[in-house]
Amino acid sequence: MPLLLSGKPVAEAVQARAKSAIDAFRKKTGRAPALATVLVGDDPASAIYVRKKGEMCARLGLGHRDFRLPASAKQAELEKLIRELNADAAIDGILVQKPLPKQLDGQAVFDLLDPAKDVDCFSPHNAGLLAQGRARLLPCTPAGVMEILRHYKIAVEGKTALVIGRSDIVGKPMAVLLTLANATVTVAHSKTRDLAEHVALADIVVAAMGKNRFLKGSLAWKKGCVVIDVGMHRGSVGSLAASSGGKLSGDVDFDTVAPKVAAITPVPGGVGPMTIAMLMANTVRAAFVRQGFLLENSSL
Ligand code: NAP
Repeated sequence: MPLLLSGKPVAEAVQARAKSAIDAFRKKTGRAPALATVLVGDDPASAIYVRKKGEMCARLGLGHRDFRLPASAKQAELEKLIRELNADAAIDGILVQKPLPKQLDGQAVFDLLDPAKDVDCFSPHNAGLLAQGRARLLPCTPAGVMEILRHYKIAVEGKTALVIGRSDIVGKPMAVLLTLANATVTVAHSKTRDLAEHVALADIVVAAMGKNRFLKGSLAWKKGCVVIDVGMHRGSVGSLAASSGGKLSGDVDFDTVAPKVAAITPVPGGVGPMTIAMLMANTVRAAFVRQGFLLENSSL
């Protein structure tokens, strides 16, 4: 069987580093770094995600302020809230939970976010810094993948990496981070011809295509291949199936792929736990940077 790349010990290590940085910040300033979450509407899955983020803040001693707007909220109302949070000196990180209701222009909201507080790394300013290799805040899920690779001492430099998916939230920043780590990166998307040929050449495959169990063991996997499954499917999208006992699965058909590869992340328990851990780390990092403090632990 392959090496199972569990995200749990990796997330715990990130959380422990975040916690000691939070304690250090509190000693210096008399307050904890604080995250503001903004939830618009009543999507039950989004409400669970926000609740979990709040619970993690409480566990680590991070401040959390929970802002809610009704599903009927107008663009101006949401933008007013973002401006207030941008100006609030006691808020270090702002997370606007996606998806937003259809009448709202998400990009305009992310354009408005103070880049210094943009802990999801969605603003064009932070995406640009990332592309130039000088990001202060890293997008949570791709940064979590890099943390898994580091933790399990999986060499990236000189390897061929295939990122399947090119979304702004996962695929694109993932490809940038792997490139910055000196991998030779191919990005596949829905118009890619013969995905199987690219899979066969890859030392590292990051699956972020949003297609349930799409990648099968019947593909020709390169010897020693490491598979990172970012996909998350819970019955039907946005439903509460998982929390009510439905099985969570990824973009990779774990049972058939695992015997063919050297290492693989499980779903659940692989990349999933990393996203929230990296959000906590980003909030702490944002707080330190905003105060002009040096982070003692640069790997936070
Ligand atoms: P997304 O915005 O829907 O993007 C999917 C990407 O996959 C698109 O770039 C699309 O190509 C590409 N794609 C679709 N079908 C393909 C195919 N047959 N072959 C190759 N590429 C294909 O999804 P996302 O937001 O990036 O999320 C991807 C997955 O990760 C989802 O399952 C999501 O739930 C999960 N996720 C998990 C976490 C976590 O914490 N674990 C966090 C975020 C997302 P085009 O650009 O051509 O359309």
